[in-house]
Amino acid sequence: MNKNDSAIIRHLLGKKGMLEVDHVTQADIVIINTCSVRDHAEQRALGHIATLRSWREQPGRILVVVGCMAQRCASFIMNEYPFVDLVLGPDSYRSITEKLKAVRDKQTRIRETELHDELYNGIYPQSSGVSDFISIMRGCNNYCSYCVVPYVRGPVRSRPVMDIIAQVSTMVKNGVREITLLGQNVNEYDHKGNDFAGLLEQVSRMPGLCRVRFLTSHPKDLTDKIINTIARESVLCEWFHIPMQSGNDRILALMNRQYTIGKYRDLVRTIRKKIPNATVTTDIIVGFPTETDREYRDTIEVVKEIQFDDAYMYRYSSRPGTAAAGYDMLPEKMIKNRLHDLIIIQNEIVTRKTKLMIGHTYEVLFEVPARQGGMRGKTRGNKDVIVAMDVVPGTTANVKIEKVIGRTPTGAIVP
Ligand code: SAH
Ligand code: SF4
Repeated sequence: MNKNDSAIIRHLLGKKGMLEVDHVTQADIVIINTCSVRDHAEQRALGHIATLRSWREQPGRILVVVGCMAQRCASFIMNEYPFVDLVLGPDSYRSITEKLKAVRDKQTRIRETELHDELYNGIYPQSSGVSDFISIMRGCNNYCSYCVVPYVRGPVRSRPVMDIIAQVSTMVKNGVREITLLGQNVNEYDHKGNDFAGLLEQVSRMPGLCRVRFLTSHPKDLTDKIINTIARESVLCEWFHIPMQSGNDRILALMNRQYTIGKYRDLVRTIRKKIPNATVTTDIIVGFPTETDREYRDTIEVVKEIQFDDAYMYRYSSRPGTAAAGYDMLPEKMIKNRLHDLIIIQNEIVTRKTKLMIGHTYEVLFEVPARQGGMRGKTRGNKDVIVAMDVVPGTTANVKIEKVIGRTPTGAIVP
């Protein structure tokens, strides 16, 4: 989502003739786009801001902080980092060039953190690659008890279908072959009665597109209608990123996730029954307050049982203002050990499943030259694949996997 927001900002600045440079020493303006999902991300952002203090000393330079942390900690940043000129929350980018001008002309500092239902309709950033993102909605109303998103990005709202379609057409004209529809929970997409399954169908039938993906699906809202649409439309990739968060019902209830692990298992079973070659990936948080060792082991058991194709695994990070912020943290060492053990188990699963690809053939959309030579692309299941030959970016080919180098399957193009 932040990458997508950065593209919006880059586009707005580009329209005013500003150019992106490779290094801060060449820049007149530096914009730091921040994330608040975990404390670690915030600390890193503050570190970056601090390193720019001496850069900012040269007259005429402007330092800008945007994103969720700008929203959440605007006063703190304004007070503690007096060399920051402009602080903009996620709904305030449309006016960024005017704000920059005001900062420069009036030699003043500005903070703008109103949340006002902004959807950035009509702003279509220039795509550069074969694959690109498009945000179809913003905000979230789910209030998972650990999560800061609803507080920093405001309530859920969806973009009009026609605006999404117009942007996708522009992207296709720019050479994009694969798009990823973005939202905190895309299954909740709803614009004047148009639901996510309908949007998927419309987007996937647009000429020139080769693949459509989407992120993220809340398990409570992933309906049979959506799964059936994916099974039916060949352009829709059979990749499901469905964050599980925990394998234990008491913890899921405390997290306010609104499903049980039984329901989650049923969902994965349904997906795999309807779409046998589907890949299923997930997010998991360990060390949620009060999680016992037994409850943690429930997560491990479900991970072993489901055999996710990939997982993002995090230690719980307490976020001020969220419902869970009132609970005591578990000991740091315990959380660290739990994450460490989970990562080892899940990595073994990924290694085993990657090796299982050997001897099988996958449709690969080629994107960029591989660092080690040849071309890098992705399977429909979102797995990176390398071939040893040059292939035109944006083309697809069937690749038979021959071996796994490091963690990446490599192979040769077959007719
Ligand atoms: N809207 C998406 C994801 C938002 S954040 C969804 O609901 O799936 C991405 C992931 O970060 C979450 O799935 C969760 O696993 C993790 N996350 C969010 N808040 C967190 C916190 N306070 N501590 C640790 N991980 C967190
Ligand atoms: Fe956060 Fe839950 Fe909303 Fe995802 S669905 S953004 S985890 S509150």
